Amino acid sequence: MKIRIDKSACVGNARCAAISEVLFELDDDGYIAVEEIDVPEGMEQLARRGARSCPERIITIVEDDAE
Ligand code: SF4
Repeated sequence: MKIRIDKSACVGNARCAAISEVLFELDDDGYIAVEEIDVPEGMEQLARRGARSCPERIITIVEDDAE
């Protein structure tokens, strides 16, 4: 599973990082720091919750079989 993020549309409210600071790394200004994340095994649920937590809806989950 991967996470894709439309980084340029991030408003920096850190909702995603509140779900998982490990998955959703922020830069020094509090905006998302990465555009694509490989989700480690066992963190899929956190990835989905993080995606749902983003009010801007810019976090997309890419399931392995969708590639
Ligand atoms: S929840 Fe969305 S808008 Fe907020 S910091 Fe994370 S990616 Fe950016």
